[in-house]
Amino acid sequence: MTNKQWHLAARPSGVVKESDFRWAETEIADPVQGQFLVRNIYLSLDPTNRVWMNEADSYLPALPLGSIMRGGTIGVVEKSLHPQYQEGDIVQGMGGWQQYTLTDGVMFNKLPRIPGLPMAAWFGALGHIGFTSYFGLFDVGKPKQGETVVVSAAAGAVGSLAGQMGKIAGCRVIGIAGSDDKCKWITDDLGFDGAINYRTEDVRAALKQHCPKGIDVDFENVGGSIMEAVIDRLNIGARIALCGMISQYNDARPAGPSNFASFIMKRVICTGFLVTDFAPRFPEAVQRIAGWLAEGKLKYRLDVAEGLEQAPAALGKLFNGGNMGKLLVRVSGEPS
Ligand code: NDP
Repeated sequence: MTNKQWHLAARPSGVVKESDFRWAETEIADPVQGQFLVRNIYLSLDPTNRVWMNEADSYLPALPLGSIMRGGTIGVVEKSLHPQYQEGDIVQGMGGWQQYTLTDGVMFNKLPRIPGLPMAAWFGALGHIGFTSYFGLFDVGKPKQGETVVVSAAAGAVGSLAGQMGKIAGCRVIGIAGSDDKCKWITDDLGFDGAINYRTEDVRAALKQHCPKGIDVDFENVGGSIMEAVIDRLNIGARIALCGMISQYNDARPAGPSNFASFIMKRVICTGFLVTDFAPRFPEAVQRIAGWLAEGKLKYRLDVAEGLEQAPAALGKLFNGGNMGKLLVRVSGEPS
């Protein structure tokens, strides 16, 4: 049996290109004592993949050139000589951009099989995406009933959930996204109070219209000029949950917001956070999110690319707005 993989071939300059990766086929080794072999089913594509490709360390060490591209996976254990994992277990971990992962279990955990819950829901809402939205909004953004929340990249994986959670918190929620279809989805299907298409509208003018009482919470996913427009409309004491700045990830010298000084006058609290900061509280988030999913208060959408071969091209969608909802690659079929 051969294992198909994508290796990191080059440090990207600007937008990621397929030539930054190299396709490889290797033999699959059998597990030795303390290891198990996972057949990967889903690969999560995330904006942070781009950050990991840089030469500099981030919150994880830089990925050495020539290594298997790092990536989060859900898969099924096919062979095990590990005391805690059995054949047939469904596991989540850093399996990388490959069909099979041989691991000692570090950075892996078992996922429960919940009747009626699709396996991909662990990437769509219940895993790192849902946790980012949950802790970013409630713990960092601290929304109060009746306040106004603005979410950027609002039709993406994190943003679409964060906006719905803002509604659960009793807030007025306005989303900013890059197409009319995305704006329609978040207002008509997800219950956002308003949406702004930043590609066709004047964001400052639209924020004035949609947020007549100003903005109390900015769930910031994008940075750049969109963030600057939001900052201009923040209220005194507003909170910025600084989740991501995707508009800057391809830039060698990312720029901060030019109106940063207004934080002083408005006493704005801007807090960067990583979802992993909240790891001890993930069980709490699973319980809350699963409850909202079951009650129909929270919806998620998957954008699935078919086949590991598609991974590099699909990654580009995160940076050109080609995805709606959580972007995944289906690497192989789910077990029956
Ligand atoms: P998304 O599913 O939201 O996909 C990214 C979206 O960003 C695209 O669909 C696109 O939508 C938008 N976008 C891309 N480039 C630009 C640009 N230049 N200007 C405006 N919008 C742009 O991805 P995720 O939900 O996975 O991630 C969203 C953010 O959350 C990212 O910044 C990511 O880094 C961050 N994140 C942070 C975590 C943390 O722990 N702090 C954990 C997980 C994610 P559109 O069509 O609207 O332009």
